[in-house]
Amino acid sequence: RTVYVNGEYLPETEAKVSIFDRGFLMGDAVYEVTSVLDGKLIDFEGHKNRLERSLKELDMTAPVTMDELLEIHRKLVELNDIDEGGVYLQISRGADDDRAFEYPDPEKVKPTLVLFTQKKNLRNSASADKGYKVISIEEMRWARRDIKTVQLLGASMAKMAAHKVGCDDAWFVEDGYVTEGSSNNAYIVKDGKIITRQLSNKLLAGITRAAVLRFAAEAQMQIEERLFTIEEAQAADEAFSTSATAFVQPIVEIDGAALGDGTPGPVAKRLREIYLEEAMKLAV
Ligand code: PMP
Repeated sequence: RTVYVNGEYLPETEAKVSIFDRGFLMGDAVYEVTSVLDGKLIDFEGHKNRLERSLKELDMTAPVTMDELLEIHRKLVELNDIDEGGVYLQISRGADDDRAFEYPDPEKVKPTLVLFTQKKNLRNSASADKGYKVISIEEMRWARRDIKTVQLLGASMAKMAAHKVGCDDAWFVEDGYVTEGSSNNAYIVKDGKIITRQLSNKLLAGITRAAVLRFAAEAQMQIEERLFTIEEAQAADEAFSTSATAFVQPIVEIDGAALGDGTPGPVAKRLREIYLEEAMKLAV
């Protein structure tokens, strides 16, 4: 693969980042993953806007303009011949000359920008056909889940806990209510109504969430943004999650309780279809 590091396109084996990089030492970095379908970037605008917000919340600035960032995405897609997959982007605060908690002077330390591509089948997904089994797990991440940082150990631990008991993913629960999935937003469907938690610092504002809710509203589907518990989810007709790379992922079991008939539900399936169709219109 050809990857991008700080202005250069290089073979992945030649790309280097300092051991003093704050992304490496402190998780002081933000990221985005933009899906690619038919060689095009899905909802780049949404990812760009969220990236700018994440940077702002952390008093960081991008080392290139957002237009340049789009060009870098496109060039990597082309160089690596990505028809379907994604582009990973990370901006860390950069490499200080030592380890310190305080942010370094942005005049002296420039942010580190890294991008690489991933080839993956996204449209045809065995997971989507089958549906996921999820477990619930007590929330253990930090309190600024609205910022998309690379501090992802909580998510990794949650996924490992799910795999350990033969499940596919985990939903975090805080004060009795579902916050979100390990790397996705969480939804339930009851009597045709789509229920998902309202945005706050407790969850990431998914780019796919925003798009799916918009498409659902356009399709005259009912939406309620509110808190819900695992018990309510287990008693729902269906459940699903959304993310940039999995789109709409049906969920068929929560903590061992099957939802509906235990197969992907009609609302989740329909939303996946609508998303795939509409998302292509957002492709650049
Ligand atoms: N929540 C978390 C914790 C995530 O990691 C992700 C995936 N980045 C999402 C939600 C979904 O966001 P998006 O739709 O922008 O991929």
